Amino acid sequence: MTAALNLAEQGFQTHLVEKSARLGGTFRDVRSLRDVPEPAVWLDELIERTTTHPKVRVYLTSRLAAVEGSVGGFRTTIEEDGKTKTVEHGAAIIAIGAGESEPSEYRYGEDHRVLTQRQFEARLDEGTDLGESIVMIQCVGSREPDRPYCSRVCCAQAM
Ligand code: SF4
Repeated sequence: MTAALNLAEQGFQTHLVEKSARLGGTFRDVRSLRDVPEPAVWLDELIERTTTHPKVRVYLTSRLAAVEGSVGGFRTTIEEDGKTKTVEHGAAIIAIGAGESEPSEYRYGEDHRVLTQRQFEARLDEGTDLGESIVMIQCVGSREPDRPYCSRVCCAQAM
């Protein structure tokens, strides 16, 4: 959405193709962020700005049925609700989204007290009693040879 809006604000007609029935993806499950006081409100505003922008056409529950051409001259067929539409475009941004990692370490899946951060946040949000002592284990499955990168959100969410 951010990329689509950026292009649209530069004057380019933009087509945003989303495979699910609504925009937002995994960000819908994020309840706290360092730089965004209310992520849900921020997301709703982003969706509103995207879906109402005159230069952005949003397709939900959609997929790319065919793509041909090359950079500068693509011709793509979008399938939405059983109907197809072909658009010509010069560039494509593939935003594949992200999902929470399911750890295999620290007895996750074996001990019910071991939660992912997202599960923990959901329980906090529901007002579940989580006991008096909590240990946060950071960087699980990240910043190691198979996944050397940093997700850039979990430290701030943990705090
Ligand atoms: S954001 Fe923090 S907890 Fe998450 S991978 Fe990076 S350093 Fe580790």
